[in-house]
Amino acid sequence: MKFVLASHNKGKLAEMQRILGQLGVEVVLQSDLGLALEPEENGTTFAENAMIKAKAVMQASGLPAIADDSGLCVDALGGAPGIYSARYGGLDDDKARYQLLLQNLRGAMTRAAHFHTSVVCCFPDGDVLTAEGECAGTIAYAPQGEGGFGYDPIFMIDDDTSMACLTDEEKNRISHRAKALEKLAAELSKK
Ligand code: IMP
Repeated sequence: MKFVLASHNKGKLAEMQRILGQLGVEVVLQSDLGLALEPEENGTTFAENAMIKAKAVMQASGLPAIADDSGLCVDALGGAPGIYSARYGGLDDDKARYQLLLQNLRGAMTRAAHFHTSVVCCFPDGDVLTAEGECAGTIAYAPQGEGGFGYDPIFMIDDDTSMACLTDEEKNRISHRAKALEKLAAELSKK
């Protein structure tokens, strides 16, 4: 069966293929089908935003479509940046966004945080599968590590290791996205 990934991100495609390929599912990028649509992500939750993207691509392609939506939720900031992780503070680069977050967290009593992913698969027959994944940690006092992207340099998975210190393979074993995709794969295998 062929699924369309509602994204232009080749890294996400590789991760989805790694996990869903085991079910004999072929995943292609929406751009591989010439679909340029960018639906407005105006939902109020990760799951709503993933649903908006998956539904739009399913309707445009006529094929089952998968979308994910992720972000960092910081307890002391009431769950922010959450669904606004990609545009926190209206800033347009990763480093500026995590530096703002460190500044906003000065003096906080807790540095607990988690990454969250919601993944949604919409089928042309109206069926919908959803799955969630989380990865818990704490926010560092200063960035460390050179790998990953986004908030990885300030997200500590233990006292000494930020997410940016992990290889892609190590991150894929514990990440919120991998956990959500593995749950989705389990749901798909029952279908
Ligand atoms: P997306 O929904 O996967 O595009 O993620 C939205 C935003 O959340 C990204 O632009 C990052 O700022 C942040 N984010 C999501 N996943 C990760 C991750 O694994 N590490 C670091 N930041 C992430």
